[in-house]
Amino acid sequence: MRILILSDIHANWVALEAVLDAAGEVDAAWCLGDVVGYGPSPNECVARLRELPNLICLLGNHDAAAIGDLPLDSFNPEARLSVEWQRESISDETRAFLQERPGRAEWEEFTLVHASPRQPMLEYLLDAHAALENFAHFDGPYCFVGHTHIPIVFKLNSGGDKVDVRSVAANTSYKLDPREIINPGSVGQPRDRDPRAAFAILDSEEGTWDYRRVNYDIAAVQRRMEAANLPERHILRLEAGW
Ligand code: ZN
Repeated sequence: MRILILSDIHANWVALEAVLDAAGEVDAAWCLGDVVGYGPSPNECVARLRELPNLICLLGNHDAAAIGDLPLDSFNPEARLSVEWQRESISDETRAFLQERPGRAEWEEFTLVHASPRQPMLEYLLDAHAALENFAHFDGPYCFVGHTHIPIVFKLNSGGDKVDVRSVAANTSYKLDPREIINPGSVGQPRDRDPRAAFAILDSEEGTWDYRRVNYDIAAVQRRMEAANLPERHILRLEAGW
C-alpha cells in the first residue's frame, strides 16, 4: 500500500492542496491530528480530507480545543486567540467530523498518535531521552507522531537502552528500521526553518518512508489570515518556518 502520511495541517488548505498534488495517487491517507488551529481554512481542510481514500485521522490538541474538549488555558495567549477564532468558524459538519476522531490508531505494525504514545494529546517529543521512555508505550515496530511540527526519526538501538536521533534529508527515501518513532513534520505550519509543506509517503510493503517537502503559495494563506484578523505572529511564522 502507498500511504500518504500527513500531520498538523492547521487549517492551511493551500498547503494541503499542494501536498495532495505532489503526492499523486495513494491507497490510503493517515493524518496524525491538528487538522484545524492557526490557519484560515478549517472547514475546507476537513472537507478535502474526507475525500481521501481509507482515511485514518486522529484528534490533535487544537482539534480537541476547537470542539471544546480541551480547555483554553493549555494554550499560550496567542494560540488561545486562534483557538477562539476556530471555535467560532467551524461548521457543524467540521465539528461532527472532529468529534468522531480517535486519539490513537493501529494498522498492522504501525501505531499512530498525535503527540506521543505515552501522552497522545500533549507531550512534545523533541529529544532522545523523552523518546526512549516512550518506546515502552507501544508494542509494534513503528509509531508515527506529529505535534512538534519537526520532522525527525527516533531509532531505538538493539539493546533497547539508547535512542539515536536522525533527520532525513528532504525529498529522499528512508528505509524503515525497527523500532522507530517517526514524525513527518507539518503540512501547514513547519517549525524547522524550512517553510515548505512537509509530508511522507509510506510504502508498507517495501518498508520505505519517502520524506517530501513541497512549496506552496504562502502569501495567499497570509492574505486570508490577515482578512480573518488572525494573530500577526502566526501569519509571519509561515514564511520563515518557525
Ligand atoms: Zn500542531
